[in-house]
Amino acid sequence: MMKLFDILFRIFILSICMVGLLCMVNCNTQTQSELEDQSYADTEGDQESDEIDENEEEEIKNYDISSILSVFDGVHGVYYAIDEDKIIISTTNLPNHKSPYYLDTEWEEERYAEYAGTNTSFRLNPNRIDEQDITFSISLNPKEAATKEPTPMGPIGISRNGVVFFNQYAAGYSALDNEINSFDSYLGHPAGSGLYHYHMEPVYLTTAYGDDAFLGLLADGFPVYGPVENGEVLSSIDLDDYHGHVSATKEFPNGIYHYHISADAPYLNGDGFFGTAGSITR
Ligand SMILES: [Zn+2]
Ligand SMILES: [Zn+2]
Repeated sequence: MMKLFDILFRIFILSICMVGLLCMVNCNTQTQSELEDQSYADTEGDQESDEIDENEEEEIKNYDISSILSVFDGVHGVYYAIDEDKIIISTTNLPNHKSPYYLDTEWEEERYAEYAGTNTSFRLNPNRIDEQDITFSISLNPKEAATKEPTPMGPIGISRNGVVFFNQYAAGYSALDNEINSFDSYLGHPAGSGLYHYHMEPVYLTTAYGDDAFLGLLADGFPVYGPVENGEVLSSIDLDDYHGHVSATKEFPNGIYHYHISADAPYLNGDGFFGTAGSITR
């Protein structure tokens, strides 16, 4: 009888323990699911703020470059007109600064000057500056292209004095190493048809307007700036694959994508246009 009582007592104690244990497990489970609820709420909060961030970016990405077009007003040989959401801009492409490449041209008397740069390997190439008729049709509302296209050989943009920009390649997509020795004091030179162009910093313009100045537009509508921003000299490592970034500039205080000139290759543009290039005819 005593033994039976002992067994019943042990079963009773064991049951109490098991109930206690179950309760603990249950309590823990609740705590866990409360935590999950909490973290789910946090995630929702993050999603909401992400959406707001995206909206803000959308607003910034809705660029409008019409405010800088007046820079081209009165530039000799440059004419432009607005056609709905495009600027049609044409240039005779004669540099408004001196160059040894005006030798033996009709502009020699006014604009010829011997090479006065620091490159001891400078050699005049056989080409001479000649008038061009180049027309760009450029969007006034540039935006990032879903597919980035490489820049063509020949003109890829127009600087604020009407001289065109070329990309970082010499003929056959080779490096500019040899061509560099034919760059004049302002780092431009003419191609075979007398088409003068800048592959790198248009020194005449950065001297005239500042190292951080607006220098022109690429054919996708995004502006080109000098090598300095907020007092810092930028190099290619500070820029994206297309040689630009988004930040506020003097002309675009709300921020805009823009290219920068750098002293190191690829100098002006990297892997292609960030936006969609308009037409370039000549
Ligand atoms: Zn060239
Ligand atoms: Zn910048």
